[in-house]
Amino acid sequence: MNKQNKSVQQTRNLAETMSSSPGPLGDHPLVNLSLCIGCGSCVDACPEHAMGLVEGHSELIFPGKCVGHAVCRDACPVEAITITQADQSTRSDIPVLNPSKESSVPNLFIIGELAGQALIRVAINDAFKSVAELKKRNPKHVAIIGAGPGGMTAGMACKEANLTYTVLEQNEHFGGTINHYPRRKLVMTAPVELPLGEKLSKLEYRKEKLLEFWTEWTSKHNIQIQFGSKVNAIQVHEDGSFTITLEGKEPVQCDAVILALGRRGSPRKLNVPGENLEKVAYTLIDAAAFKKSKVLIVGGGDSAVEAAMALSFQEGNEVTISYRQDAFGRIKARNQERIDQYLKKGKIKVIWNSSVTEIDETSVTLSTPEGSITLKNDEVFIFAGGELPFPLLKSAGVKFGGE
Ligand SMILES: Cc1cc2nc3c(=O)[nH]c(=O)nc-3n(C[C@H](O)[C@H](O)[C@H](O)COP(=O)(O)OP(=O)(O)OC[C@H]3O[C@@H](n4cnc5c(N)ncnc54)[C@H](O)[C@@H]3O)c2cc1C
Ligand code: SF4
Repeated sequence: MNKQNKSVQQTRNLAETMSSSPGPLGDHPLVNLSLCIGCGSCVDACPEHAMGLVEGHSELIFPGKCVGHAVCRDACPVEAITITQADQSTRSDIPVLNPSKESSVPNLFIIGELAGQALIRVAINDAFKSVAELKKRNPKHVAIIGAGPGGMTAGMACKEANLTYTVLEQNEHFGGTINHYPRRKLVMTAPVELPLGEKLSKLEYRKEKLLEFWTEWTSKHNIQIQFGSKVNAIQVHEDGSFTITLEGKEPVQCDAVILALGRRGSPRKLNVPGENLEKVAYTLIDAAAFKKSKVLIVGGGDSAVEAAMALSFQEGNEVTISYRQDAFGRIKARNQERIDQYLKKGKIKVIWNSSVTEIDETSVTLSTPEGSITLKNDEVFIFAGGELPFPLLKSAGVKFGGE
C-alpha cells in the first residue's frame, strides 16, 4: 500500500471507529503520510512519547498514551498532522464515565485531563457538568481533589450551588499543569463562562495572566483550598460515603468526590532534610531563568539529562548530576549521544553511585562510595520519577475502558 492509500485507510479506520462506537471521543493525531517527510519533530515534541517513526514516517505508536496535547501538529514543519477524534472507550487509561462525568463508583466524578481530554476549556466544562448533577443530589460534603483548572472551577461551581466543599491540593499553590508551562507561554483557549459570573473572554492568554485570574477569583469568592494535602487513598464505604486519606494529615469524610488530578501524578520525593526548601524543584520550567548558579540535578533518566543539558547551556551555570547507578538508565539514544559530548567537554559533571542525604540553603550533601561529600549549591532539581494517579483510582474501584 503506498503512503497516500495508507493515509486514506487510516482516516477510514478512524471514521469507522467513531461511527460504530458509542464510547467517549478524544483528540488524536492523524498523520498524512503523503506529506510526512519523517523528520521526527513530532516524535521529539510529544510530551507523552506517544509518537514514533515507523518505516520512515510518523505514527501514533502508543494511542493509549495520547492525551490530545496537539503539540505534534504544531511541531510538524510540513503540516502533515491534523487533530481528529477517536474512540477512547477501549483505552485502559481512560475511566468509564457517564455524561455527567460520574465514574463506575456512584458519587465519584472524574473531570479534566484525567477524564481524557487535555484542554483547559474541557476541564472547566467537565466541572460544570459534575456539579450540576451533584446539585440535584445535594450531598452534605463534596471533596474536590486537585486545584488545576478543573478542580478550581469545581470549587467555584460548588460555591455557586451552595454546596459544602473542600478543595484538596498536594502543592502549596493552585493552577495545576498551567504552572508547568514555559514562562510567558501563550495559552490557547476559547471564550468560556465560569461560575460566579466570571469568564475567560479571549482566545489566548499568557500563562501568567491566566494564573492571575485564578488568584483574583479565589480571593474574591473565598474559595476554600487546603494546600499541602496529598491524597493517598480513597476508601468507599458500604453506605456510599468516602474517606479520603491524606499524607500526614487527618482524613476527610465526604459523601461525594470530584477527582481533578490531571495526569502528571505526584513527583517521587527523596525524603531528606531540607527537601522542602524553596530552591528544590521537581520540574524545570524555564532553564533561562537560572544563570550563574551551582545546580544539582538528581536522577539519570531522560528528564534529568535534558534538564542538565538545558541548564548547562545558560551563562555561568555549574551543573552536577547525582545518580545512584553507575551509568544512565534507559535514556533515548539521542540524549545519550548528547550527554556523552557534554561530559567529554566538561560542561556537566556526574557523581555516579551517589545519593542526596541533606540539602541546606547553600550546599548539598551526597553519600558516595568514597564517603560523604558536600557541594556548594544554589538550586536542586529532582527527577526521581513519580506516582501516576491510576492506582489511586483503581483502588477506589473505578472502571477503565476495555475492562
Ligand atoms: C506544555 C503544555 C501546554 C499546554 N497548553 C495548553 C493550551 O494552550 N491550552 C489548553 O487548553 N490546554 C493546554 N494544556 C493542557 C492543560 O494544561 C491541561 O489539560 C489542564 O491543565 C488540565 O486541568 P486539570 O484540572 O484536569 O489538571 P491539572 O491542571 O493537571 O491539575 C491537577 C492538580 O491536581 C493535583 N494533584 C494531583 N495528584 C494529587 C493528589 N494525589 N492529591 C492532591 N492533589 C493532587 C496537582 O498537584 C494539580 O494541581 C497544556 C499542557 C501542557 C503540558
Ligand atoms: S513532524 Fe511532520 S514531517 Fe516530521 S515526522 Fe512528524 S508528521 Fe512527519
